[in-house]
Amino acid sequence: MSIFKKASKKVAPKRKLIVANWKMNPVDLKEATKIFAVLKRVDLKKVKDTVVICPPDAYLADFSLKYKGGKFKFGAQDVSVSNNPESTGEISAEMLKNLKAEYVIVGHSERRALGETNSVVAKKIRNAVDKGLKVILCVGEEHRDMNGDYLRFVEKQLFESLEGFNKKNIANLYVAYEPVWAIGKGHASVESNDLHQMNLFIKKVLVSIFDRKIGLSVPIIYGGSVDEENAKQLIEAGEVSGLLIGRASLNPYVFTKILKLL
Ligand code: PEP
Repeated sequence: MSIFKKASKKVAPKRKLIVANWKMNPVDLKEATKIFAVLKRVDLKKVKDTVVICPPDAYLADFSLKYKGGKFKFGAQDVSVSNNPESTGEISAEMLKNLKAEYVIVGHSERRALGETNSVVAKKIRNAVDKGLKVILCVGEEHRDMNGDYLRFVEKQLFESLEGFNKKNIANLYVAYEPVWAIGKGHASVESNDLHQMNLFIKKVLVSIFDRKIGLSVPIIYGGSVDEENAKQLIEAGEVSGLLIGRASLNPYVFTKILKLL
């Protein structure tokens, strides 16, 4: 039986991971607090997913310390590659941990567009998991082509970004497939059958990086123009273990609607 068939037989973990990436929004804490006030009203007992809010670092502590142990988890959108305190403007994995952040997004395409390489991403991941953070590694091609070069691109990102990753930390690793062409567009999400294929492809690559059991244990989530219209279809037909949501997570009514749909 091919790895594709075997992988598709494996049922995704029941508890989905839904991540809200607020990016560099909103412009003040008052607005952020208003968004969160609406979210807090959601009955997550009914939702049954793990919902992670990733506000800008400037507001992270206002939520992560105050609401620790509550129904939402909190995460950061990036972490320093370094543990050296002489790192102006950076935030370390240890600081995030002390702020009670549990997750961190690493290798987002908007960071990669600023020059972040796979090797920097790999160091950030090792650093973050060493400090006990759960990492959401973002990978995804800039565009699709007929020759399948985009598959090689994602494969390379995975191999290089997971360089030196210690298998013992595997429970703290998530992969977010985020095709760059679908991010922030609001209308150009991936087709769910293409997502399903990519999901299987990523599983296959993870199996070759680690081994079958470990590779298949890594949850794969999807991000890129998710909204209340496409969320359910993407998760079900794409067979992904969750979603990473940018724009739509800033509207707490839309985000709440998505959570209730899943
Ligand atoms: C993102 O920034 O990771 C993202 C998925 O954004 P959007 O949902 O706006 O496409």
